[in-house]
Amino acid sequence: MNNSISQNKKIFLLIAVAYAFSVICRLEWVWWASSFNEFIYNGNLIINSHDGYAFAEGARDMLAGFHQEGDLSYYGSPLSTIAFLIVKFSPFSLESVMLYLSAALSSLIVVPLILIGKNLGTLRAGFCSALIACIANSYYNRTMVGYFDTDMLNIVLACFIIWGLVRLNIYKDILSALIASLSMLIYFWWYSSSFTLNIALIAMFLFYTLIFARNEKINYLTMILMLLAITSIDLWLKILLFIIILFLYKSKFYQLSKRQNAIIIALGAVIFTIFALSGGLNPIWFQLKFYILRSVPEKDTLNFIFFNVNQTIQESSIIPFSIFSERISSSVSVFLLSSVGYALAVFRHKILLLSLPMCALGFLALFSGLRFTIYAVPFMAFGFGFLLEILGCMLNERIKNKKPFWYAFILISFVPALYFWYLQEQIGQFVWEFWLYLALFLLVFLWVFFRKDLGAQMIFAACMLALMPSFLHIYTYKIKSVFFNSEVSALESFKNIASREDYALSWWDYGYPIRFYSDVKTLIDGGKHLGSDNFAVSFALTKPQRSSANIARLEVEYTQRNLHENFGLNLAKIMKDYNASDVNEFLLSLNNENFTLPKKTRDIYYVLPDRMHYIIPTISRFSDIDLKTGRSYASGLFMLNEGLNKSERGIELGDGAYLDKTLNFLNISGKKLAINTFISTEYKDAKLNAHYSKIDERAWIYVIYMNDYNRLLILDKSMFESAFIQLFVLENYDKKLFEPVILTPLMKIYRLKV
Ligand code: MN
Repeated sequence: MNNSISQNKKIFLLIAVAYAFSVICRLEWVWWASSFNEFIYNGNLIINSHDGYAFAEGARDMLAGFHQEGDLSYYGSPLSTIAFLIVKFSPFSLESVMLYLSAALSSLIVVPLILIGKNLGTLRAGFCSALIACIANSYYNRTMVGYFDTDMLNIVLACFIIWGLVRLNIYKDILSALIASLSMLIYFWWYSSSFTLNIALIAMFLFYTLIFARNEKINYLTMILMLLAITSIDLWLKILLFIIILFLYKSKFYQLSKRQNAIIIALGAVIFTIFALSGGLNPIWFQLKFYILRSVPEKDTLNFIFFNVNQTIQESSIIPFSIFSERISSSVSVFLLSSVGYALAVFRHKILLLSLPMCALGFLALFSGLRFTIYAVPFMAFGFGFLLEILGCMLNERIKNKKPFWYAFILISFVPALYFWYLQEQIGQFVWEFWLYLALFLLVFLWVFFRKDLGAQMIFAACMLALMPSFLHIYTYKIKSVFFNSEVSALESFKNIASREDYALSWWDYGYPIRFYSDVKTLIDGGKHLGSDNFAVSFALTKPQRSSANIARLEVEYTQRNLHENFGLNLAKIMKDYNASDVNEFLLSLNNENFTLPKKTRDIYYVLPDRMHYIIPTISRFSDIDLKTGRSYASGLFMLNEGLNKSERGIELGDGAYLDKTLNFLNISGKKLAINTFISTEYKDAKLNAHYSKIDERAWIYVIYMNDYNRLLILDKSMFESAFIQLFVLENYDKKLFEPVILTPLMKIYRLKV
């Protein structure tokens, strides 16, 4: 009894240490970002994940108690709900929850890993894997401070399910069955796309049971509960069924029955029927399709072919092995050792077969993009810990003279600490959480090295070494906040100008943050950006002002109508209403001054952040397309050059191209290209002035030098005339169509007058 209490204390301590370690490592970004004023708004760091604003908007609306029809708010979504509850019942502000919740929840991954280690009798492997997993590259990237996203629990909950099943395999008790099935219930509620993984876990457990534990009735009961957990029925009904099943299982009727098998089978049949009837058998791989089948053009009933957004998502492109393994284990060598250890662990503990679906999902990344690697993190880390455990035991058995090893392991343990000391010494700047890390390190170090367990000492030393690449990654992976504080304050002032029913027209990257700060509607956002969604916005940003204004008004009014009329694609309905049959002709006609627009029901604002400059080529691709054939047009010329490199002959543009010092022509691969107009813009007394020098009327190239940004733009006529360039870069807006609302160097907002 006493033994198990001290064992529990030890496990609690290990969990506390690993959890603290995980949180402390995540503070590095806070420390770094806090030194930049631009990242701080109202005393809080601005978060760094665009999607985070979707959940934040949902939480904000839940706190307010309302939201608008068709505003795409994540009102009631699980993460928004949790944030809402925390803000409502704790002293924390929404801003700090958005910032720190990911670190607090994602660090819980150490709990199931350590407990799995304990249950398998390899506690040290569990502890070691917890340290490795909690800051492995892809896990860190998607759960760092300020990354307000469902990822913070996606891996944690999956690990809890597996821990429940590992525990069940040993204790064969109801508690384990509940840990597994309730974790699955929460997981499915938290992230409905976890359905596929959950199905795979159940299938794997069935497979395992049929082969290795055919007569364990509680395994079948657990499967039934797990299936119930991912059935799409009302939550209360689900919980009621849970209670009924457990009650039945505990009842004398079942316990004394001679036909227990029949009862279990009948129960399984009932739950399976409910599961099937509620749509559970719909193709389970459906969710992965989007990422697996790439470059399939989007088709509509009218046979418009839009630009396929997959072609621009970097996350879903094929990745090389080294990046793949670094994302899973932070370095190729740790990854390879982990693979060996994982194979050994599964061989030794067959129950770990259950982790196979997670690793398989992670390995899908090799074929379908790096967003999946995160799933392989925890059990590959466990493999690494397991390998060390085996080596540690061998060391303890074989080595008689322990002293030299003892010294060697002490030395190795200190390598990372010394290395980082050296790094900081070099820069002359000590990171404050380094001291926290050091304190934690010394604590565990003393604990490990004043006991006679050479194996543990080796494990500790190796673990420290294996963590170095992760430390380096955290140290160099410094991503910026989504917006700078001046942009946020522009959006906050915009909130006071626009009404909640008005629309902000901007690129999808900025959709969620704009909605969070300004509480308006948007046409596209991080969850709505198919080629067909993006087309109109791309068109509005990169075509001339008249066409831009017309399509913006059409798209907004039809998007609103579509909420009730459900007519499918806006463009198809618009063309039908305008009696147009040729889409290209129709789009051309938008530039016509006499184009009649539908009745205006609300205001539309163009929200143009300066940072949109960098993605204009991507944006334009979505409307530089022949919708009839899906063939892309050559996009307009848009070259952006910053931090200008001046030479004797002029300004170097890279690849041997240069702008002649006379500013009269460009030289690109030996060819002289005449310039139509050279324009230089400059702020004077907080007002933008543009100075035009006409050079050659017949030429098709325009050059704009933006003095305050030290930025040179080289454009062709079509790009030069685009709404974005005219409104943002030159502030040369058509007074009949637009009216400036907020004009700051980093964010410009115009109201559409038509
Ligand atoms: Mn709203």
